[in-house]
Amino acid sequence: MATNEADGGTLLLKEFGLDLAWVARIRQALLVWSSESVRDLPWRGERDPYRVLVSELMLVQTTVAAVKPFYARFLSRFPTVQTLAEAEEAEVLKAWEGLGYYRRARQLHAAARTIVHEHDGIFPTEPQAILALPGVGRYIAGAIRSFAFEHPAPIVEANTQRVLARWMAWTEELKTTRSQSRLWGLAEILVPDDTPGLFNQAFMDLGATVCLPKAPLCFFCPVSRDCKARDLGQQDTIPVLTPRAAPLLVEEACAIVVDSVDRLLVVKRASGGLWEGFWEFPTIHLQGADPGGRSFGVGVSLAEGAHRLTGIEIELGPELHSLKYAVTKHQVRLHAYRAVVLGGEPQPGPGLIEVGWGSLEELERLTFGSAGRRLLSWLSKNRLTTFGAYRH
Ligand code: SF4
Repeated sequence: MATNEADGGTLLLKEFGLDLAWVARIRQALLVWSSESVRDLPWRGERDPYRVLVSELMLVQTTVAAVKPFYARFLSRFPTVQTLAEAEEAEVLKAWEGLGYYRRARQLHAAARTIVHEHDGIFPTEPQAILALPGVGRYIAGAIRSFAFEHPAPIVEANTQRVLARWMAWTEELKTTRSQSRLWGLAEILVPDDTPGLFNQAFMDLGATVCLPKAPLCFFCPVSRDCKARDLGQQDTIPVLTPRAAPLLVEEACAIVVDSVDRLLVVKRASGGLWEGFWEFPTIHLQGADPGGRSFGVGVSLAEGAHRLTGIEIELGPELHSLKYAVTKHQVRLHAYRAVVLGGEPQPGPGLIEVGWGSLEELERLTFGSAGRRLLSWLSKNRLTTFGAYRH
């Protein structure tokens, strides 16, 4: 049997009362199971490392269902690492718009430029060179290496770490260094030399479809006889994960400023902040933590804040709409107020690089964050409410 269990691997197996025969059974069972139970994913079987990188970065903190349409669209816009490297950042963000966690889009863009400028446009195959690409950690490196290059590289992510913890009946908190070293150690032993990509895919599929976070489907599990947690009746209490802290609540307000020809006032964020390079309606922070860096200090009204941000004096009308969105550890409630122009010249204020006017159709072509994009859709559907009657 080809194994990766040298250098302490056998000791690790012993620590959990496992052995090489167990490794062989798990490999065999997963490979047989995967030939009948694969998930239909657009990136399944992909051997192009660039495409693997795109799919894995999109999947960070995001569901498969959410990623599917973006994956196809992004690759039709940037089919090769060269086309992505040559693109402007604004184009890349636009293609990523709606997927969230825009840092990943910037990392992908930077990775493409690194491949083109430092590796002559050829995706590196050396483990250290792959790990050095922006946005690539141990997990994504494992995916690229095993899926694209058939290297026996392990994968530990949300699904596989749950499965591993149950196989070992690991009752310690999963995020500790000690736990992570055991999980990666066991994953390294398990991945076979001959079919690493197929094995890793089956491993992730098992976690995603059978070994579910709550109420795992042990009855249908191809490795149930070799699962220690099931043996001990602990499959519902393993893995042990500290619950996430409750999100920090934040209140923000933005002005939907309409001019006499139904154009809307928007601003573009400068570099350095969370929303670098994105357009939005003039927004101030009202209450709670300030994830977007929009604070003017306590007591600044929306009209005053919008004036400082844009150079445009406005008169506020009623609240038009409000929506919630999540960013990092924050749950934000954004209140949108209708407003009209009293005077002034557009002048970007603190944290901004541009102020401009545009029709809804023109704004559709700009890159907004998810909240701004949702507001734009709402405004399109409610044009009369937005533009009618309240105008100087
Ligand atoms: S037997 Fe149950 S707990 Fe164990 S791996 Fe299979 S589904 Fe998960």
